[in-house]
Amino acid sequence: MYDCVVVGGGLIGMLSARQLKLEGRSVLLLDQGRLGAESSWAGGGILTPLYPWRYPEAVSHLAAYSARHYHSLAQELLEESGIDPEWTESGLLILDADEKVQAQAWAQQFGQDLRILEKLTAIKSLEPELATQANEALWLPAVAQLRNPRLVRSLQGSLQYHQIDYAEHEAVCEIERAQGRVVAVNTAKRRIPTDTVIVTAGAWSAGLLEQAGIAVKVEPVRGQMLVYKAIPGLLKHMVLDHGHYLIPRRDGRILIGSTLEYVGFDKSTTVQARAELNARALALLPALSDYAIERHWSGLRPGSPSGVPYIGDHPGLHGLYFNCGHFRNGVILGLASVQLLLDMMLGRTPVMDPAPYALNVAH
Ligand SMILES: Cc1cc2nc3c(=O)[nH]c(=O)nc-3n(C[C@H](O)[C@H](O)[C@H](O)COP(=O)(O)OP(=O)(O)OC[C@H]3O[C@@H](n4cnc5c(N)ncnc54)[C@H](O)[C@@H]3O)c2cc1C
Repeated sequence: MYDCVVVGGGLIGMLSARQLKLEGRSVLLLDQGRLGAESSWAGGGILTPLYPWRYPEAVSHLAAYSARHYHSLAQELLEESGIDPEWTESGLLILDADEKVQAQAWAQQFGQDLRILEKLTAIKSLEPELATQANEALWLPAVAQLRNPRLVRSLQGSLQYHQIDYAEHEAVCEIERAQGRVVAVNTAKRRIPTDTVIVTAGAWSAGLLEQAGIAVKVEPVRGQMLVYKAIPGLLKHMVLDHGHYLIPRRDGRILIGSTLEYVGFDKSTTVQARAELNARALALLPALSDYAIERHWSGLRPGSPSGVPYIGDHPGLHGLYFNCGHFRNGVILGLASVQLLLDMMLGRTPVMDPAPYALNVAH
């Protein structure tokens, strides 16, 4: 019998399984598809929420904790898996600076390095190829990024390194309960006895938890992205402008994201989104027109109403924990949310106040 079964092998589930194993627990991780093939693969890997001051403070508390710890996690994952998740402190340049006052207040509260660039020449000296006439921008030099496909592969490698059991293509269809406690999870193939389950099923979490009598407001929100096969140095920093962002990878590839679409579990890509994203990318960085679009994809974010994830347990059902609803920020919030849930499960002093993430709080 496993000490814990983790349901859903995205970033949150894989990190949870790894941390539990490091704490000496036996753990089984189950995924209905392949590990790390959903939102955690599809994302941009920017290690800050976009316009973080627009979110409730609960988001910034998680983000600040994760940001402090991701570099060392990335190094551990590289050592354990041989795959580099490419933690890179490329900085984030925000071209729409209208919320300067709110941004400065947020930076002061959370100890973030935020600078105001007050001249076009200052912006151009950071990014000469940008086609902007902005005379003001926000510059966050310490914001880093991870490369999602590499991050999830390094996590899977780390699970193997730590000899953590996992099964792919095995969906959990029922969390079995008896006398107010979890007793097993059921898949189409087998019944797996356990007294502790963590639901980390991303956009699919609400359906699974509802079946166990728990209501969370998590729904799929599609995001489409493009990547250009450009060359190193064309863009050096991440750039955000009116909701669209460019992300330069170490090998020169440049991503543009993303759409925000409420279309259920439909993961198809659309001609319209491709045209819109391409137009935004070329308007920001005209030199990109010399490079081909290499890939167009979409992912289903686990959308919650205000972006605050659900982290905790249900007082009426012993042994059932959840960590879901990270919406647009699951990578940056993920590390901290896993740490927080583990602290709660293991009865330790939590790394931060868990109250804002509880079930009975408006999310
Ligand atoms: C286009 C896009 C851009 C993004 N950019 C960023 C960014 O720059 N920075 C950032 O921090 N975040 C970003 N995000 C958000 C981030 O990717 C997500 O919040 C995060 O990946 C959620 O992780 P997760 O593990 O909860 O979900 P997922 O990665 O979706 O994993 C959930 C897993 O659960 C499995 N599952 C579901 N139901 C079951 C079941 N019944 N039984 C077994 N397994 C099940 C699924 O197969 C899946 O593998 C972006 C997302 C998208 C789509």
